[in-house]
Amino acid sequence: MALRFDNTYSNLPAAFFTALRPVPVASPSLIKFNDSLAQILGVSADDFVDIAATFSGNSLPKGASPLAQLYAGHQFGHWTPQLGDGRAILLGEIIGVDGKRRDLQLKGSGPTPYSRSADGRAWLGPVLREYLVSEAMYALGIPTTRALAAVKTSEPVYRETGALPGAILTRVASSHLRVGTFQIFAARGDVANLKRLTEYAISRHYPEVDGPLGLLCAVCQEQAKLIAQWMAVGFIHGVMNTDNCTISGETIDYGPCAFMDVYHPDTVYSSIDHFGRYAYSNQPKVILWNLAQFGSALIQQFENPKTEVEKANEIISEMTQQIKNEQNRLFMRKIGITDGDAKDIQLVTQLLEMMTESKVDFTNTFVDLTDGTEVKSFADPTAFAQWSEAWKLRLKKQANPTKVMQAANPYYIPRNHRIEEVIVAALQDDFQPFKRLLRVLGRPFEHHPEDTDLRAPPKPHEVVSATFCGT
Ligand code: AMP
Ligand code: MG
Repeated sequence: MALRFDNTYSNLPAAFFTALRPVPVASPSLIKFNDSLAQILGVSADDFVDIAATFSGNSLPKGASPLAQLYAGHQFGHWTPQLGDGRAILLGEIIGVDGKRRDLQLKGSGPTPYSRSADGRAWLGPVLREYLVSEAMYALGIPTTRALAAVKTSEPVYRETGALPGAILTRVASSHLRVGTFQIFAARGDVANLKRLTEYAISRHYPEVDGPLGLLCAVCQEQAKLIAQWMAVGFIHGVMNTDNCTISGETIDYGPCAFMDVYHPDTVYSSIDHFGRYAYSNQPKVILWNLAQFGSALIQQFENPKTEVEKANEIISEMTQQIKNEQNRLFMRKIGITDGDAKDIQLVTQLLEMMTESKVDFTNTFVDLTDGTEVKSFADPTAFAQWSEAWKLRLKKQANPTKVMQAANPYYIPRNHRIEEVIVAALQDDFQPFKRLLRVLGRPFEHHPEDTDLRAPPKPHEVVSATFCGT
């Protein structure tokens, strides 16, 4: 069967995009095809005569309507009036066997009118990184874009460090609509297209809601749940600009992101986040800021601006509590408690405080508590013993606490040093470490003894303290 396209974005007004084809590459070869995702999309690898040609953009699948989307955004708080797909091409939309509509996008597919001075390409490292981390997020049950394929282009890409092998990722998303898509029309005072976009976003993502305020409310709710989920697995996005903030509520753009090894609320990995704007514990505040920009971008179409602006403010302010509630709920589950109260939240807070002080591994501390492994890494063993006693007493009133914890605490996260290892091997044309890590990250809640090495935190010489954006 072929990919069944059903394109709606390309039917929007011309101001939304530039129609253009991917720029062909010399000699593409397939690194990986995601068979289980393909199944959801209703295709299999055998359906493609030349799979590398299809997922490099060299040969356009029938029904595709390739284009680069236009958007703007606040980058690190600074307004950039025009961004857009500078190195991505939307091939079109597919309706999966589950009835869901998804975008199929090539990333690294050559320059577009929105590339500014950059080359429109991606190198192998960020492509493998996005493949691994997005698929890991999916397996963790966190809304995310996914990876359908990774292809090597056989063309070099030039970066600061010199020539690197080029690659292209096929990204699958509920849509690529972002806060920045709304911002560009708002900034231009293009109310007609702003309304058109609002209607489009509602019909595509939240058909049950009414008008711009209904949309704002729905996006706030989805993003609140998403950020709480990030917090619960120690994920730091690293570049939460408004152009990387989706309307669907999916995580997008795995650039300088990272999963924390050692727990500390102020953790920053991104090499470009000099002031810690997107630090781990700032993420709930940043999403509020981003959605306030979304609210502002919607205003020009309000029919009763005074009352609607007030209502929009209310919706956004309520998010703080929504995120907190959701975060509390998820963290209580991490210590085995469902339906907890203020005292249980205090147990979580105390644990996190001890974890901060003791600089322990975030993921493994929760796994050890789950498995009943003796935790020896706390700086103040007496304080931990006291906490542990209170916690165990509390769990006596909880049904199946171990089950609750097992479902909340993954064994495997895509640790930075493992991703780096994968990339180093891939540069030597060895993709076995990539495939192995991908396989293990696909079932993060199941421990297999032969994969114990992938659970280990980095040794001092393996620590990756800075991550780089995907360019
Ligand atoms: P990101 O930080 O990946 O969200 O990208 C921000 C903006 O820079 C987007 O408009 C991208 O399309 C653009 N961009 C990033 N890398 C490249 C590249 N290598 N070539 C062209 N545009 C790029
Ligand atoms: Mg982006």
